[in-house]
Amino acid sequence: MASTADVIVVGGGVTGLTAALQLRERGVREVLVLERHTVGAGQSGRAAGVVRGTVRHDVVSQMQLEGQEFLGNFTEKYGIPLDVHRVGYLLVASREHRSYVQATRAVASRAGCNVREIDEATALTLQPGLADSPSAIYLHEPGGVYVDPMPATHAILLAARQAGVRVIDDCPVRTLRTEKGKIRGVDTESERYSAPVVFLATSVWAQPLLATMGWELPVRPHVAEMAFFHVPASSDFRLNCVLFDSRVGLYMRPEEQRLLFVGRRESDYYGTDKDLVDPDCYRQTATHSAIKEMHVRLGTALPPMHAGFVHRTYACTYDVTPDEMPILDRFCGTEGLYFALGFSGGGFSSAPWIAKRMAAWMDLGVSPPEIEMFRAARFNTGQLIRWANTPADEMGGAAPDG
Ligand SMILES: Cc1cc2nc3c(=O)[nH]c(=O)nc-3n(C[C@H](O)[C@H](O)[C@H](O)COP(=O)(O)OP(=O)(O)OC[C@H]3O[C@@H](n4cnc5c(N)ncnc54)[C@H](O)[C@@H]3O)c2cc1C
Repeated sequence: MASTADVIVVGGGVTGLTAALQLRERGVREVLVLERHTVGAGQSGRAAGVVRGTVRHDVVSQMQLEGQEFLGNFTEKYGIPLDVHRVGYLLVASREHRSYVQATRAVASRAGCNVREIDEATALTLQPGLADSPSAIYLHEPGGVYVDPMPATHAILLAARQAGVRVIDDCPVRTLRTEKGKIRGVDTESERYSAPVVFLATSVWAQPLLATMGWELPVRPHVAEMAFFHVPASSDFRLNCVLFDSRVGLYMRPEEQRLLFVGRRESDYYGTDKDLVDPDCYRQTATHSAIKEMHVRLGTALPPMHAGFVHRTYACTYDVTPDEMPILDRFCGTEGLYFALGFSGGGFSSAPWIAKRMAAWMDLGVSPPEIEMFRAARFNTGQLIRWANTPADEMGGAAPDG
């Protein structure tokens, strides 16, 4: 097999695979993806897979809406089956957070998201069993979707292969090879691969590779604990939609017939050292205290789930930046070396938007203007990206709009 390519993508998650697909669709001839483990083994196969436009930043909202469109049109475009669950997204917040939630709605609406405030009766019709409280406010985005992340990642893999991308797994890249200020390729333990362009899509594992060249980026691995809760045997409760209940700081989506996928949304991931981990060595399940706490919160948001029970749990790592926004850039001083990482828990939905722009940049050598704000220099100049309303840490907890 040829060990040369026009572009080498390091990392077989959604970011790397969608970028490889986009590169081929732009006409780049030889695109090679090197994955150290199996495709989807990183965050991509373990995400919640929720794609919603109701977020506190207009560009991020646009990213996620493009993600919805990509997934929604995927089967028609590539002829590959992909289950996209079009269940809608429901946000619940307490009345004291009204101004923040309304600001989110305004930002997302401007970005083109169909999201509206609904009353309690409508919310309870959409999601029977939701804890009612006259003081709550509700946003509903009918277009919110979720996918099972591993099959979705593999569907993108199939589309990429169909388009001519070569993907090699069990192929950890050890070193980036440069010469005279240009990238020349990458080395694995046993092989040397050459290309004039290399794209790093290695999320929390970027640092060891960067360190081989004396670089460091502000991306920290932060552990997230997730749990699947079972509906009690005596109940016919069903979760009908993707639900974020900021009153309890939990997000949930349906999983199979009688399970709920549950995650916590906390604030200030980057500044919290306690959950920092070595991404290759950390506990793979949720702790008992986390499960207990989630269960209490779940029963508060959805009273029928008081009697539910935990089915299984896992832990995974987010690649978090100080402003919880991605870093999309190329290395100054090393021509041809690009990277996209630091998705801070939201990179599944934004991958198609980001991949499209990064592929254009790698192909044409000119950065699309809309990604300028995501360049790494912002951390040196202190000009971090501001989310559209009050930062979560001023709220003393999770942002009331996710
Ligand atoms: C619990 C959880 C829930 C989430 N839920 C959502 C959600 O609902 N919606 C959403 O939009 N986002 C969500 N995310 C975030 C989303 O999953 C990630 O942002 C996204 O999957 C990142 O994709 P990626 O391809 O950049 O990284 P990854 O999927 O982590 O892929 C990186 C790949 O690089 C490989 N790699 C690393 N080092 C090397 C090397 N040296 N050589 C070769 N290969 C290498 C890894 O094995 C890995 O497969 C969630 C994340 C977590 C952890």
